[in-house]
Amino acid sequence: MTAQLIDGKLIAQQVRAEVAAAVAKRMKAGKQKPTLATVLVGDRTDSATYVASKGKACQELGMGSISEHLPASATQAQVEELVTRLNADRAVNGILVQLPMPAHINEERVLSLINIEKDVDGFSPLNIGRLAQKGREPLFVPCTPYGCIYLLEKAGVQIEGANAVVLGRSNIVGMPVALLLIGKNATVTVCHSRTRDLPSVIRNADILIAAIGKAEFVRGDWIKPGAAVIDVGINSRPDATKKNGYRLVGDVNFDEAREVAGCITPVPGGVGPMTIAMLMRNTARAAEIQDP
Ligand code: NAP
Repeated sequence: MTAQLIDGKLIAQQVRAEVAAAVAKRMKAGKQKPTLATVLVGDRTDSATYVASKGKACQELGMGSISEHLPASATQAQVEELVTRLNADRAVNGILVQLPMPAHINEERVLSLINIEKDVDGFSPLNIGRLAQKGREPLFVPCTPYGCIYLLEKAGVQIEGANAVVLGRSNIVGMPVALLLIGKNATVTVCHSRTRDLPSVIRNADILIAAIGKAEFVRGDWIKPGAAVIDVGINSRPDATKKNGYRLVGDVNFDEAREVAGCITPVPGGVGPMTIAMLMRNTARAAEIQDP
């Protein structure tokens, strides 16, 4: 059996086209351009690249972007002042604080300061709290977990009643994706570094979401035949045939898994492109909430 490939690149393009159309409609109606403010603290090159690609996506979809950059030496008070100023700025619809911040900054305090109506990354305790409670709706769902669920739904995977295994329990992927799956009536098992006998737990999964950051960790014979596999991992493996000397792989051994699974996301080109697409969707929604 060869799994159906879930084309995240194509699905992300479709989401982006829908967002661009919604933005154009707002502009035509004389409304303010949906605008995302990014906050980068410090000089991590990966964070600078992520922030730049978010700004570029805004421009491509006709949205505004404001990029704020504080030095690594910025104090807690300076970061909090910046977020407070962006909260009050009516030209800003969404605020994204790029994580991780330098170790001396208390991330939780910064995230909890973001106005819930502008929390397009969905990480403020209020949004996460609502996600965790039955019958409550978060204003914004965190972008990568949102992308995972969107891909499952687009691939026609039945979530209700399914046994779902989430590999990883991080604040940004594993835990929110598990909460979303519970909200959609899956029966969810969350695995982490202390889980015993992972292969036998994973073999029960109709849906597997892998988010641990370990290259090709999940083997093909751990996967239930016909399962849906969403691979969130982004890891590099040395590869002399590549110009840059490496290639990206997921947390799942793709070549083995595709022979067993019913459908699977590739890396790259699976979950990765969905994260920014969902951020753009959340930003357009923020503008809609603030100025219907
Ligand atoms: P993280 O914060 O490092 O969390 C990793 C999780 O995996 C932890 O819960 C950890 O368990 C668990 N884990 C680690 N080793 C394990 C093992 N051998 N067996 C079972 N569980 C294990 O990672 P993250 O931020 O969630 O990211 C996970 C992966 O997704 C990374 O490759 C990252 O690059 C990728 N990612 C991709 C996107 C995207 O847009 N596609 C977005 C975010 C992240 P403990 O809790 O017990 O430590």
